[in-house]
Amino acid sequence: MQLITGTTKLLGVIGNPIEHSLSPVMHNAAIASLSVDYVYLPLPVKAADLATVVAGFHAIGLIGFSVTIPHKQAIISLLSEVSAVAQGVGAVNTVWRTEAGWSGTNTDVEGFIAPLQTDNRDWGQTTTVILGYGGAARAVVVGCQQLGCTEIHVVGRNPQKLSQFQQSWVNSPVPLNIIIHPWEEVAALIPKADLLVNTTPVGMYPHVDQSPLDQATMQHLGEGTIAYDLIYTPHPTQFLKQAQEQGAIAINGLEMLVQQGAAALKIWLGQKPPVDIMRQSLRAYLGLEG
Ligand code: NAP
Repeated sequence: MQLITGTTKLLGVIGNPIEHSLSPVMHNAAIASLSVDYVYLPLPVKAADLATVVAGFHAIGLIGFSVTIPHKQAIISLLSEVSAVAQGVGAVNTVWRTEAGWSGTNTDVEGFIAPLQTDNRDWGQTTTVILGYGGAARAVVVGCQQLGCTEIHVVGRNPQKLSQFQQSWVNSPVPLNIIIHPWEEVAALIPKADLLVNTTPVGMYPHVDQSPLDQATMQHLGEGTIAYDLIYTPHPTQFLKQAQEQGAIAINGLEMLVQQGAAALKIWLGQKPPVDIMRQSLRAYLGLEG
């Protein structure tokens, strides 16, 4: 076990609730494997206490921290610098100390595209279909834009929220043409999809038999389509099982989780993160080993 001493530097994750965060598992596994003098802690922070806590972090010399629900947007006003990517997403998940104050970025985008970058397809010629329009969908949209995807369809169940989602990109630093669709239109979109991304929580543990799309709809998925589920437990999700039955390439959310964490650790430590160790630690913790 790693020795914590009087010189150990502090990292952590703020959120509420924070008990279920997997970030301490993978970051402390990485810290141990690198033999660096850091520790990464789960830090429960209520929304009303955010500004006080962040000021306190500065006072005690915290090196950096991850940000999760419900603080990903609220943290922005407390930072002295926000990366263009985070501005595009409208949310920050990684913060680090600089001489000017706190800087923030969003590594979910890098995490999302990492497993897609190993695929050599011409992303400019692909059609992306995104299910859901929540926080994670925003990182997915910016990721698709970074890959060069030109045709991005977003499907959601609430017309007003869908329209707000589309509008939110109009004056965004990320120039995008987003085409929105009510859920009833999803069946017609599926055969056209080269990349189908589930950003809804449907199918997440313990509702492991659920899928955002029914079997009849998924039957129209083309062979070679990439089906990407942001959910990481269970593995595979019902959505990915359906996709694999159609010959689709399945990607689950674990790699995104690992890669967004690795990108954050690289910022904090200034060295190459041990991605394999981080992945293995999560697989072991989630019982995916063996
Ligand atoms: P969120 O902001 O609450 O958004 C969830 C979205 O799903 C909303 O658009 C919501 O629509 C929609 N939705 C929920 N239930 C639905 C249903 N039954 N049918 C259709 N749409 C439904 O959540 P989030 O932060 O974006 O997270 C979404 C998922 O991504 C979660 O499973 C989370 O664990 C996962 N995630 C994974 C990673 C990773 O690193 N792998 C990172 C971030 C998030 P309404 O608003 O209309 O309810």
